[in-house]
Amino acid sequence: MIGSRLVCLFNRHRPARETVEWNGHAFVGRCKRCGVEIRRREVGGWRRRTSGEEPIFKP
Ligand SMILES: [Zn+2]
Repeated sequence: MIGSRLVCLFNRHRPARETVEWNGHAFVGRCKRCGVEIRRREVGGWRRRTSGEEPIFKP
């Protein structure tokens, strides 16, 4: 769907449920629409996972 892919271009993704896992710091997975690696953030929801991004440690 062009409409849903457009959302991915704005870095708003939706995880494919079967790919979601806990990596010890955050939930990570793959977008079911564009296939990119994403992680769930406390603020902003599922966003693209950048290679230089530090793990998020919870207090
Ligand atoms: Zn996506």
